[in-house]
Amino acid sequence: MASLVLQGRPASAGLAAGPPMRLAADETVSGCRTPHADSEKEVADLRTAIETATNRLQALIARVDAHAAQIIGFQIALGKDEDLCQPIFAAIRQGAAADEAWRGAMNDEIETYERSQNEYFRARASDLKDLRDQVLACLFGVTAAEAPPGGAVMVGTDLSPSRFLSIDWKAGSALVLTEGSATSHVAMLARARGVPMIVALQGDVPVDATEILVDAVDGTVMVGPTDADRQQFQRRMESDAAQRVAIEKSAYRPAVTRDGVAVTVSINVADVTELDSLDPEVCDGVGLVRTELLFADASAQPAEDAQYEAYRHILNWAAGRPVVVRTLDAGGDKPIAGLTIDGERNPFLGVRGVRLSLVRTEPFRVQLRALARAAVHGNLKVMVPMVTVPTELEAVRSMFQEEVGMLERDAIAAKVPPLGMMVEVPAAAIAPEVFNADFFSIGSNDLTQYVTAAGRDNEAVGKLADPLNPAVLRLIANVVRYGASAGVDTSLCGDAAADPNVLPALLSCGLRSISVGIASVGRVKAAIAKLDLSAMKSGAPTTA
Ligand code: PEP
Ligand code: MG
Repeated sequence: MASLVLQGRPASAGLAAGPPMRLAADETVSGCRTPHADSEKEVADLRTAIETATNRLQALIARVDAHAAQIIGFQIALGKDEDLCQPIFAAIRQGAAADEAWRGAMNDEIETYERSQNEYFRARASDLKDLRDQVLACLFGVTAAEAPPGGAVMVGTDLSPSRFLSIDWKAGSALVLTEGSATSHVAMLARARGVPMIVALQGDVPVDATEILVDAVDGTVMVGPTDADRQQFQRRMESDAAQRVAIEKSAYRPAVTRDGVAVTVSINVADVTELDSLDPEVCDGVGLVRTELLFADASAQPAEDAQYEAYRHILNWAAGRPVVVRTLDAGGDKPIAGLTIDGERNPFLGVRGVRLSLVRTEPFRVQLRALARAAVHGNLKVMVPMVTVPTELEAVRSMFQEEVGMLERDAIAAKVPPLGMMVEVPAAAIAPEVFNADFFSIGSNDLTQYVTAAGRDNEAVGKLADPLNPAVLRLIANVVRYGASAGVDTSLCGDAAADPNVLPALLSCGLRSISVGIASVGRVKAAIAKLDLSAMKSGAPTTA
């Protein structure tokens, strides 16, 4: 039988081979049950199903990190929402089957979320689908897979974060979805846990397929491979595994170019649990903590103590190495319900980052207090996103000082940490000398989108958003030059630093400190070791 190759988009790189295993939700959504003659019994069945599903979610909360717990908390709250459930029970009393009434009401709710202008609410639609399916699974007595049998590939339309987290991926191998997105919560979780994942697969894996080869580097799924395909893929998997070992070894070496130039390599952290299995020896510190992930839902915004504990946890992990925590960068592509401004015409040019923090000062002051308290326990630095004019940074500094003053009056240990800024708005990159910042961190993701006028969320202009554009590199070199002359430490924490095609150009701009995603540390250090800066012309780097 000829093999079939389906194309999708890689969301978490890696290779895997095994039998496809369908996500339970796919079958349960389309089921159809005959209602009890006594409608009260039908209502009771649905109540039990909702209760079982929310109890399972509740049990899951203890096993996940704070961010995932917030997502699950939202689902539980919805399951217990009487305003949502009462009309469903009423429909059952009118003769509808429990699954029909529940599915109908939830689909309406999901549609409302999907139609929302607000990206945050749209993203919540998959959490609602998950709750819908979990309750349906309970109604039909189907148990969701807790662990795919060794080497199985989970296949489905979409998957919610809670379902992802309920699966024991140590035993599984990969995830393939016909929908989904590479920027979803699930993709982020898959990358952090090293689970190969493909989204937007063009076509279904046939139900009778017994083996598939998942190439989540190129984004392909091969169904029914021949012996030759299988052997070739096996060789790739072996060389991939060997490469990973070599890369992991590189992570422990200092990053030094062939001609002896040392580069500081720090890590970007999106989720505190990412540090659990990481040895701090592999990096020079934490160059960026994206705290907006602690604020995924403003209604469940972490209290000062919870934030303080999270920051302390990172400082403890770093064991004296510098930790740069960025204050909340909500807005743009990261709206937070109840916090960011709704209905902005162009959110990337709107009330985002520090602009929002200076408008919504109360949650911001909570964060500053937590940071000031954590600052006495380690090498903490705080960085402000989206700074455009010096008064923004000065306003933050004054607020920090006020909060520290109040904490000290209450005999609570606190201090104002070094205060730096992201350089990601062209105005700041063109005239860095006007800012009184303790350090700079160049945000190449936003700097590139603003310099090239190409939205980072718009695939259609993706090619234009190129950090190798000479205009972008010139601005980066400008900031690095000014930082060196004024004694202001300058680093870069955007994705460009982890891109082997861009890294040489960044180093030839004079940059000697970068911060990259955890999974990229070994690869980036290995790439640095191959470079000879003395042989590079400015703006025209060469690799060995
Ligand atoms: C950047 O803009 O490069 C950056 C690191 O910040 P974020 O990607 O979180 O906007
Ligand atoms: Mg940014």
